[in-house]
Amino acid sequence: MKQLFSILCFLSILCFQLDAQTTDPKDTEVWEPEPRVVATDTSIPSDAIILFDGTNLEAWESANANKGGAKWTIKEDAMFVAPGTGDIKTKQTFGDIQLHIEFRTPKRVESEGQGRGNSGVFLQERYEVQVLDSYQNRTYSNGQAGSIYKQYLPLVNAARGPGEWQTYDIIFTAPRFNKDGIKIASGYLTVIHNGVLIQNHVEIQGTTEYIGMPKNNAHGKASIKLQDHGNLVSYRNIWVREL
Ligand code: MG
Repeated sequence: MKQLFSILCFLSILCFQLDAQTTDPKDTEVWEPEPRVVATDTSIPSDAIILFDGTNLEAWESANANKGGAKWTIKEDAMFVAPGTGDIKTKQTFGDIQLHIEFRTPKRVESEGQGRGNSGVFLQERYEVQVLDSYQNRTYSNGQAGSIYKQYLPLVNAARGPGEWQTYDIIFTAPRFNKDGIKIASGYLTVIHNGVLIQNHVEIQGTTEYIGMPKNNAHGKASIKLQDHGNLVSYRNIWVREL
């Protein structure tokens, strides 16, 4: 007991001394490295990679390896899903990113549930942030707009109506795998929908499957993929920052 008491006394004196040493505010200042400058005088940060500016699909290709270039159509600064031509993906591959993307579901409402304005933004071709017309259109909660498909429902429904432009700002941390192909760190997603936080650093369980459980096969950097679900969803102003 006496020994314990002396150890505690010793530790408290040590702590006091350590604390006493930090009287100079400079001791806790960090000067290096200095964060690099990113200009924000336009709506796109100066270090962003522009994936679509309304003019062409040069940054994109068919997600089907044998199909070549992206077959989606461009009209009035937007790219439209060309139903039946398949998903498209970026030629460039990415790890951790901040992604800005604007989307619009068709003004003319022809269906309901999962058939209304369905598309999707897939991080690393595997992890889907659902795109759907979720304005007065009930479906399963973990499949509505802004869900991490079949894994996380959005915190709230911030969807705008059919035919209105909407934004997703997505922060993605990629999962990590060791050399044996075992996942050693989960991926994470944060999503802001039309300025509203709807996914707050959620832990990705694995691939976002339509049927069955998530899978966790090892992979490295991969593309951003946009889904052709047969609906005339359009996208514009897509840029990404590598983190
Ligand atoms: Mg989808």
